[in-house]
Amino acid sequence: MLSEGVKRGNRKDLGLTPAGDPCVEEADLSRRNMLYGLGALGVASMSGALGLINYSEEAQAVATDSLEHQWCRVIDLRACTGERKCVSSCQTRHGLPPEQTWMRVLSWQDEVGKEFFMPVPCQMCENPPCLDVCPVSSTFRTPEGIVLVDQETCIGSRACMAACPYEARYFNWSKPAETNRMPAPSPNTPEFPKNQLGTVGKCVLCADRMPYTNELPSCVDACPNGVHYIGDFVTDVAVNGRKTVKLSTFLSENNAVRFKEELGTNPRTYYILGNGQPLGGPEGAVK
Ligand code: SF4
Repeated sequence: MLSEGVKRGNRKDLGLTPAGDPCVEEADLSRRNMLYGLGALGVASMSGALGLINYSEEAQAVATDSLEHQWCRVIDLRACTGERKCVSSCQTRHGLPPEQTWMRVLSWQDEVGKEFFMPVPCQMCENPPCLDVCPVSSTFRTPEGIVLVDQETCIGSRACMAACPYEARYFNWSKPAETNRMPAPSPNTPEFPKNQLGTVGKCVLCADRMPYTNELPSCVDACPNGVHYIGDFVTDVAVNGRKTVKLSTFLSENNAVRFKEELGTNPRTYYILGNGQPLGGPEGAVK
């Protein structure tokens, strides 16, 4: 049982070297670039369905936390064609049954019938409503910003499932399959959760991969279109397996938004629109 923080295993020496021009988006994927420090974040989001949002202050606070990493996601909806490779890859890696999708891909239609897609994993909220409702404090947030469930203490109350506004959690009604994860530096820590019958599971951002094994989350790796980025506020870098971008520039220049911003959950997941997706509840768009 973990009462505070997260038990840490032995991190891999990443052997970081300085990146080149961090603003060059077409740079080769370099996991070294992903983890190399660049600076603080200042992002202003778009107006419209979500209203004007400014991430500057919170991001600055995050970047000065003096931790090695502060993880986030960026999902580029411009590139999503609904292939759902992210979903199947995630299910395979985590041994999930068909009905359990830690990544959902919503399909929407605009007013003229054009279909577009939106992957929705756990948003890794900075203010997660799933956390406080847990009667045994099994849900917690790591110092690096990943919301996890301690499978050893979860009693399956499902209060977190009801509280999550993103429908990101699933109850294990049947005994989960054995997972094929990397060897855990410290078995059964929440970062290496072994799903169990009668507990609640959700996306773990492949916390057992990065930075222990220097691998990208499976959804990032699997997407053939480079939709998914894993980002780090501390280094101000995001990668999608194909290219490396400067996180703050990428978000600001593309008017990134967050899902259900009005709820105050402060998701660590940012969406880049581009196919007419009005995340705030569009008139004419149907789920
Ligand atoms: Fe919790 Fe849901 Fe936010 Fe994930 S998306 S941190 S499960 S409230």
